Order: sequence, then structure tokens, then C-alpha cells
Amino acid sequence: MPAAEKSGPGQIGDSPHGRNCEILVVGGGPAAATAARLLTSWGRDVLLVARPDADEPELSVSLTPSCRKFFDLMGISSAIEAAGFIPSHGHTVWWGGSERVEPFAEGQHGWQVSTGRLSRVMLAAVEAAGGRVQRATLTADEVLAWPARVRIDATGRSGVLARPLGRRRYEPGHRTVALIGHWRRRGPWPLPDPSHTLLESYADGWGWSVPVGPDTRALAVMVDPRTTSLVKGEGARAVYLAEIAKMSHLTEAFRGSDLISGPSGWDASMYVAEQMTGDGWLLAGDANAFVDPLSSAGVKKAMASGWLAAVAVNTALTQPALASTAYDFFAARERATYTQFLALTRQFLLDGAPAPDHPFWADRGAPAPADDRAAVVAAWERIRAASHLSLSLAPDVTFAPRPALTERAIVLEERLVTPRDPDGVRFVDGVDAVTLVRLAPRHAEVPNLFEDYVRSAGPGDLAAFLKTLATAVARGWLLGV
Ligand SMILES: Cc1cc2nc3c(=O)[nH]c(=O)nc-3n(C[C@H](O)[C@H](O)[C@H](O)COP(=O)(O)OP(=O)(O)OC[C@H]3O[C@@H](n4cnc5c(N)ncnc54)[C@H](O)[C@@H]3O)c2cc1C
Repeated sequence: MPAAEKSGPGQIGDSPHGRNCEILVVGGGPAAATAARLLTSWGRDVLLVARPDADEPELSVSLTPSCRKFFDLMGISSAIEAAGFIPSHGHTVWWGGSERVEPFAEGQHGWQVSTGRLSRVMLAAVEAAGGRVQRATLTADEVLAWPARVRIDATGRSGVLARPLGRRRYEPGHRTVALIGHWRRRGPWPLPDPSHTLLESYADGWGWSVPVGPDTRALAVMVDPRTTSLVKGEGARAVYLAEIAKMSHLTEAFRGSDLISGPSGWDASMYVAEQMTGDGWLLAGDANAFVDPLSSAGVKKAMASGWLAAVAVNTALTQPALASTAYDFFAARERATYTQFLALTRQFLLDGAPAPDHPFWADRGAPAPADDRAAVVAAWERIRAASHLSLSLAPDVTFAPRPALTERAIVLEERLVTPRDPDGVRFVDGVDAVTLVRLAPRHAEVPNLFEDYVRSAGPGDLAAFLKTLATAVARGWLLGV
């Protein structure tokens, strides 16, 4: 297949296979490219239709080192390194009155990319795997009428199916508009490490900056038009400059540089779809949920979502009897991911609030829900203090098949199920909790239990094993000590 065909909105260029396909992927961002590349390499017949390149708005974003595992999974790490994106080495953060320079771990780097260039690299990888890529802006009716067995909507915020079918719900108190401009400076930037992503909180919002070239940086202010006191009636440029002036560190860092383009406005409000799958369709990436840019995790989340959508669709087409299990699993995992991001974001916003009673911060910050760490530590102290173990299986524990994720398919595996963990648990920190909990009542000594576990489940890490044993007691899977 030649390079991506170009056509006008709503038109599809002729291709050797025409419009027919097994799976239609709509969108040209990381979620679409991940799903299309993986499904194609697993032998599926995929057609990806993305908006014409020229209509694509460019956004500079920061990718953390953890994106590498998805690049590896797709087999595109060398293409990403060859693309010449700016390597990033960490974050510099002025948040809630404290300054932190946070380098990434030794030997690891992230990437400062433009979304347009990242898409072009990823779509080339879809074609290299044998997938078809065409250019058009589709409507919901066109997508639903498409001659395909499954449709994946990965059209980001525009949500070609997500808007009419997904029942998108915006997070209350979390409306955010990003105003972004590009700045050029002659000479070095006065920063601890200019490759870093910069963050600064201020009374009315927060600022963010990433490098986009050797002498150029993007600088954004994130505001809420309902609560930020914006300069009225003087245009976006005046509003933008007035917000920058409210920050001390970023104002200092950009002193002496020139605004060369922008500001452009972006909606960065958080939302989640109440319905993520339907009859022959799934929503992937930002189409199903958007997390605050504060996390610098949107692209990684989109690739994870594209992978999970590919796995769910591959399972449904290979084993139709598991189709609804696979789609339900996909939706539950996506919703859980969003909930986790929401909790982390709220905690981070709580920590950043320079003026906690200001509505910008009061509406969005909240403490993360408590986890069971303290209970696990207390259980471990009881185990350590006991002269011997005397554990029994709790009466509400059952062992039952539940869906689980492998690289290409959703399978049913035996899990430990309780009313508190209805989806079941198999591994805790890499330790097989099902095997451990089954064996524990037979042993009075921890070393004997560990030996028996290794015989049944294979070599394991002792520290992780002990933590899982304490978790089993803390969560009430095992009673006594
Ligand atoms: C201000 C701001 C800052 C951000 N900063 C970061 C950051 O630092 N790090 C990070 O990881 N993430 C960041 N993000 C989030 C990140 O950009 C997204 O989460 C990520 O791009 C989502 O990928 P996606 O593939 O789901 O959607 P998108 O990247 O939005 O891709 C959607 C694709 O669908 C196409 N499309 C739309 N409608 C149609 C249609 N009808 N027909 C055909 N094609 C269509 C679009 O042209 C596009 O190619 C930021 C977002 C914002 C708004």
C-alpha cells in the first residue's frame, strides 16, 4: 500500500480493497495507530481512516519514559528514536510553594513531541505492518454504516461515535481551558535543565512549558473561565500575557524571549463516557475518557487504551462466545484507569493549591482515597510476632473463572473472588495469590509455606511473597495468624 491517500472530507480514495474491512479504526492519533498496528500485525484486516493531515492541529506534549513499553509492544521503538524528537530528562516543578527538580531514573528518557509528527511516525508504522490508512473526516452515520464487523472510535475529544452514543460526562468542577503560545529565545534558557517539562501553580490556575526546538518552548496557562479572574475584553493575547504575569518562576524563565505564535485555545476539561462499547463498536483513547494534562499521561493512556481495544476486538472475533466478556472487561478496565487518574489528579491539585479557598483549586483538589497499606503493615507485624501460623480460608472466598488480559487476547483464568473483590484477584506484586491462599492453611511455619509455594508456582521473590501473605490477612482472605 502506498503512503496515506489524501482525499477531501467525507471522500475515501480508491484502494485495492475498497471500503470493506474486518475492523474500521477511525482517528489518526496514538490510540488509533496502536490499535491498528497491533490488529494488523495479528493478521486482522484493518482500515484506518484519519482526518486529512493538513486539518490536524499541532500540540506539543511531553511523553514520560514509561511510554517505551508501548513502543516496544508495537515494535516501533527504533522508529521513535529515529524520528529525532527532543529527549526529556525530567520535570522542574514549582508547586504549592515548593520547588522540585525531578530527573527521570538513570539511563531513562522521555520525549517532547508534537502530536502531528508523532501521528505521522505511528501511521507510517501501521502501513509498514500492512494496514491500510486513508484520509477523510467521517460522520457518525458514515462510521455506523461502514461495511465492517467492528468499528473503533479513536477520534479523541471530537468523538465521532462517543458524542452521539457514549453519553460523555464532564467532571464537575474540572473545566479547564489551555492557552498555549510558542516563545523563542536567543541564548540559553535560564533553567536547571531545559529539556524538562515545567509546571507552576498560581492562585488562579497553573502554567506548563515544554521545549519544542533548540531555541523555542511552548508555554501554556491552564485556567477556568468560570473562576479565574481573566482580563476582560482585550482579546486572547492580553488574557494570556496577564495570566503569565501572575506566575513568578515562569515569568522569570521567559523574560527576554519573544512570543512568536499563539496563543491558541484548547479545551482540557476532564470527562468520561458512560457507555464505552456497543453493538459492533468501541471507544478508545480520549474518545472514551480525557485525563488532566497535569499527569503528562494522555498519550500513554491512549496507547494503553488502543492496545486494550485491540485485545478485546481480537478476542471477540476469534472467540465470538467471549465477545461480551471481552467488551465488558475493556470498559471496566478503562473506567478503572480513569478513576485512578482522577484520584491522583485531585490529590496533586490539592497539593498545588497556593490559595486553597480559591474556587479554581477548591473545586478540583481532593485527598486520594486511603489504600490498605497501613492494614498490610499491621498484618505483617502480627505474622512476624506469632510463634507459628494458624491460618484458615475465609468462608466468603471462592475460586472462580474471571476474565484476564494477555498480550493478544482476553482469557478466563481462575481467581480468588470475594464480595469485596468481585472481579477476582490472581497476582499481587507478581505473587500468585490463588496458590498462596490455598496453601497457607496447611503450614505452621512461613519458610515451609514459601517452599511449598515455590514448588507449586515456581521461583518467587521472598519479599513480595511476604507482602502478599500480609495482604491476604489484611484483606480478610485468610483468617487468624
Ligand atoms: C492542552 C493539552 C496538553 C496536553 N499535554 C499532554 C502531555 O504533556 N502529555 C501527554 O501524554 N498528553 C497530553 N495531552 C493529551 C494528549 O494529547 C491526548 O491524551 C492524546 O493525544 C490522545 O490520543 P488519542 O489518539 O486518543 O486522540 P487524539 O490524539 O486527539 O487523536 C484523534 C485523531 O482523530 C482524528 N479525528 C477526529 N475526528 C475525526 C473524524 N470525524 N474522522 C476521522 N478522523 C478524525 C483527529 O484528526 C486525530 O488524528 C494534552 C492535551 C491537551 C488538550
